[in-house]
Amino acid sequence: SKAALFDAENKVKITFSDVAGLDEAKEEVKEIVDFLKTPSKFTKLGGKIPKGALLVGPPGTGKTLLAKAVAGEAAVPFFSLSGSDFVEMFVGVGAARVRDLFKQAKEKAPCIIFIDEIDAIGRSRGRGQLPGANDERENTLNSLLVEMDGFATDSGVIILAATNRPDVLDSALLRPGRFDRQISIDKPDIVGREAIFKVHLKPIKLDPTVDPKKLSAQTPGFAGAEIANVCNEAALIAARRDKKAVDMQDFQDAIDRVIGGLEKKNKIISPEE
Ligand code: ATP
Repeated sequence: SKAALFDAENKVKITFSDVAGLDEAKEEVKEIVDFLKTPSKFTKLGGKIPKGALLVGPPGTGKTLLAKAVAGEAAVPFFSLSGSDFVEMFVGVGAARVRDLFKQAKEKAPCIIFIDEIDAIGRSRGRGQLPGANDERENTLNSLLVEMDGFATDSGVIILAATNRPDVLDSALLRPGRFDRQISIDKPDIVGREAIFKVHLKPIKLDPTVDPKKLSAQTPGFAGAEIANVCNEAALIAARRDKKAVDMQDFQDAIDRVIGGLEKKNKIISPEE
């Protein structure tokens, strides 16, 4: 059972070195780290620090990881909630949770608020779902808009939100002073996958034959989450086989298993770039 709909991680240990690839996105969020660390440097000439940025990209590509890394790099608390938690909520509860979250965040500023799956709250009003079910979602969205407008740009709270459906978002969310910056987080290419493999191979006892280049060539269409999954599966498979180190055969079998899982989920594996 969930006590609260958001967690505040006061000490985030994740840094940019945990996020492989995504070089352009990292460059863009580095600015946000600087805003959090030295706001006065940016406001002294009359500029306004942005309140929020939208991380746009397919599932499992590292949006949550990158948002946490921003908090980790700036050494500020990380508050998070997921839009999907607000589905089927009783009247008034969603809006109250949003107010409560912003209140806590303002007390802990500077900090990051991360809203995963913002499309579950932020779908354009009057669109989708069952009649009635929509009302509380709209209340929640309205309260989010009110809260975003209600704090000063120098409050030290920066909101990052993630979505893979920017097209369904209510345009009110994308207006200047709200989520007016978009940062795209794409699936990794072969070079990106190699970098992600290197991160997730680090804690594993490897046979010298294991080659991250080969592994990345064998995993077209995989997102970071699937690569992390392959590395973990391979270690478990090798352990079951009583091996002393994880070898390429274990990785091959892990890749097959993860592809099998993806096919079951009916996900489309995109062709190699
Ligand atoms: P979703 O939209 O499904 O919430 P997401 O984009 O937020 O997905 P994450 O939750 O950040 O994805 O990624 C899941 C896990 O996959 C991470 O905790 C990490 O282990 C791994 N991962 C994903 N992308 C990367 C990356 N670029 N570098 C290293 N690890 C990654």
